[in-house]
Amino acid sequence: MQNTEIKTTCSYCGVGCGIIVKNDSKNGVTVTGDKNHPVNRGMLCSKGMNLHYVVNDTSDRILYPEMRWSRSHPKERVSWDAALDRAAAVFSSIIKKHGPDSVGFYISGQCLTEEYYLVNKLVKGFLKTNNIDTNSRLCMSSAVAGYKKTFGEDSVPIAYADIELADTFLITGANPAFCHPILFRRLEQHKEKNPKTKIIVVDPRRTDSAMAADLHLQIFPGTDIILYHAIGRRLIEKGFVDFDFIGNHTENFSAYKDLVMGSSYEKASKLCGVSVDDIHTAADIIGKAKGFISMWAMGLNQSAIGVDKNTALLNLSLITGQIGKPGSGPFSLTGQPNAMGGREVGGMANLLAVHKELNNPEHRKEVADFWGIDAISEKPGLTATEMFDALESGKMKAIWIICTNPMVSLPDARRAEKALQNAKFVVVQDISHNADTAKFADVLLPAAGWLEKEGTMTNSERRISYLPKGINAPGEALSDVEILLAFAKKMKFSGFNFNNTEAVYKEYCLMTKGTNIDVSYLNYSRLKNEGTFQWPVPDYGHPGTPRLFADRKFFTPSQKAIFNIPTSIENTSEPPSDQYPFILTTGRIRDQWHTMTKTGKVSRLMTHTPSPVLEINPIDAYKSKIKNGDIVVVSSKNGEVRVKAKVTDTIKEGVLFLPMHWGKQLDNDLNRTNNLTNTIVDPISKEPDFKYTTVAVTKY
Ligand code: SF4
Repeated sequence: MQNTEIKTTCSYCGVGCGIIVKNDSKNGVTVTGDKNHPVNRGMLCSKGMNLHYVVNDTSDRILYPEMRWSRSHPKERVSWDAALDRAAAVFSSIIKKHGPDSVGFYISGQCLTEEYYLVNKLVKGFLKTNNIDTNSRLCMSSAVAGYKKTFGEDSVPIAYADIELADTFLITGANPAFCHPILFRRLEQHKEKNPKTKIIVVDPRRTDSAMAADLHLQIFPGTDIILYHAIGRRLIEKGFVDFDFIGNHTENFSAYKDLVMGSSYEKASKLCGVSVDDIHTAADIIGKAKGFISMWAMGLNQSAIGVDKNTALLNLSLITGQIGKPGSGPFSLTGQPNAMGGREVGGMANLLAVHKELNNPEHRKEVADFWGIDAISEKPGLTATEMFDALESGKMKAIWIICTNPMVSLPDARRAEKALQNAKFVVVQDISHNADTAKFADVLLPAAGWLEKEGTMTNSERRISYLPKGINAPGEALSDVEILLAFAKKMKFSGFNFNNTEAVYKEYCLMTKGTNIDVSYLNYSRLKNEGTFQWPVPDYGHPGTPRLFADRKFFTPSQKAIFNIPTSIENTSEPPSDQYPFILTTGRIRDQWHTMTKTGKVSRLMTHTPSPVLEINPIDAYKSKIKNGDIVVVSSKNGEVRVKAKVTDTIKEGVLFLPMHWGKQLDNDLNRTNNLTNTIVDPISKEPDFKYTTVAVTKY
């Protein structure tokens, strides 16, 4: 395919920037920002503008199926038929011997919607197990549960266009300047044009986002709910409350009011590590806002109390009635490009397609009827970390991993590694030999990557984009849809007579009819000709829905939003001790993406932070006899890493920060941050507690 120009969407974060890709015989693939795209208006961040290097460099690509007959044999090249025959035979025999729940699939927020839909249908509908989960479990599951508890459904209320209509922003547990850069650039531009716009940032680190803020509340990790309740109290005391909205459109306000009015500013100040004045100032700014938007990401979600943190934050939008109006509402920032699309098609162990619930018998029947099968198992599926626990204990025998690299990204990575070693059979479907997980595959399947296949994605603001195929995949790589359809055929499953990816999307769209995420009038033709759409799109000619709840009717049975009372206000993570006195928090750096299988091969993206660095406060460094640039050993109950120290007052005393991206180099895993992280998960969302692991640090 030569001398072509196509419009597509960036494959990295949930912002979902539009990209124009040119492909010619002289330069190969080149990329520029799409000036007419409603999300980025031509802008791209460092990752997006270097995407062509990732595509043009195929040196790391898995080019043909590989297989090994036993763990003592090396993998060898085989045909697609041989690889899928073996996968089908082993999965069938394990299921026959140990039952359907002895196998599982672990997939990714980078899968396209059609791939997500198909693999969920295959596993929940035909393999008869609900053991299918996604790495979005590590990312957005607390936000999903928070939305459901408050609004009745997983529903992001607002659009990016609301940014330009708001005057007050609370960014909490997020660093969009690094992790959602184009979104943050839109916010900066809005503030440049409207200097009275206020930005409050809540973060234990003085990040680039915090540096752009009018007020930075540098809290101790895990104290978010206490802070939000103190802000809630101040809002009520000062009369910054929309009683009309609360009375007509919410439930349970009096219980919430009793709770927050019983809180103490002084206690909140002490526990959170911010002054009472700053708490009052934050509340007063929010209370006086004409348009108030809260934005959050992993700082809230990746927590032992992640769901409670989410609902406590959502309560602030409810008190002030700042939802369903232009320039107002809560806004979870999605980490991955299609985490939301995955949720729409039921891409988690507890979900079914079109936002139906696995634990609801009527929903199970509706989905089973639609798929033409007898029933869907009522047994809850295992979540991401539970599947690896089950592999370690031997309860689960086989796993199929698609487009994700758990050997770097799961908490307690050494234990996850043991789990894969203990598995009887591992299939890995990926694009790159650089993925640490690929080394554990008994069958390794070469997948097509971004630009090499077609499909759709949904970004953070519910915006659905069509991504066309622009180039051929290298070697014998196939799209995930083609691989899954071929496997379904080997398993002799009915219900997979799709001629192409478009047919898969058509089936999904039909399934949404009459639901709150209705896109039954959307199709490839409209997406290609008319551009992107925000769901729901419930009618022919419907332009899409930028803002939900404009009628102040929510998706709960009473149509009212619910003030939730947290089960636990204080953090339930393991507290610091004499042995492990510091709190480690982890996160992204500016130019890297996840486990670096793509960004790690672009030399210009390696210059910003070439290796992992531990951020440590000068007081902590002094007490620990650590100087800037020293090599240090960070250790926890689970393992250790050895990295360079960066002594900086941007991090709060008592807190350490490590980037999450690096994995093993050769056999050395001492760069891998997740050697350290704990295995605690939120009790509802089952999202890991990445933002709070107690550790020790010493000079090497
Ligand atoms: Fe891609 Fe996100 Fe950067 Fe946009 S902000 S170019 S979607 S990585």
